Amino acid sequence: MLGSVVEAPRARTILLDAPGWTGHVAGQHVDVRLTAADGYRTERSYAIGSAPDDAGLAITIERVDGGEVSPYLADAIRPGDGLEQRGLIGGAFTWSSGDGCPCC
Ligand SMILES: Cc1cc2nc3c(=O)[nH]c(=O)nc-3n(C[C@H](O)[C@H](O)[C@H](O)COP(=O)(O)OP(=O)(O)OC[C@H]3O[C@@H](n4cnc5c(N)ncnc54)[C@H](O)[C@@H]3O)c2cc1C
Repeated sequence: MLGSVVEAPRARTILLDAPGWTGHVAGQHVDVRLTAADGYRTERSYAIGSAPDDAGLAITIERVDGGEVSPYLADAIRPGDGLEQRGLIGGAFTWSSGDGCPCC
């Protein structure tokens, strides 16, 4: 994790290091995997919050009290801490100019 921005008392945006990141389109998400010292692993999905042209990859996490993953990402993770991420996942949810409207 490279850095973070507090968005609200329960929400924080974190900027992830993503070497080789080739960009994304609106509507796609990544899966973030955490591994405990004893090897236990768990994974959650997060929408990509950065713009497609941004250099890095940002996700915004709202803390769910009692949750397994979101309290760590929203409150505890610090710059330099590692995270595994998988994605891009999901297709684009946008029309490009010239596509026309499918309802007309
Ligand atoms: C495609 C996709 C994109 C997502 N994008 C985002 C995102 O951009 N930002 C983000 O913060 N989350 C996002 N989520 C939700 C995220 O994946 C986690 O489910 C969330 O962070 C809670 O994980 P947790 O491990 O803290 O809670 P868990 O340990 O999984 O759950 C703990 C308890 O809280 C309940 N719970 C889980 N989520 C919520 C909720 N939102 N509100 C109320 N109760 C809940 C569960 O039912 C359970 O009882 C996305 C999910 C999907 C499928």
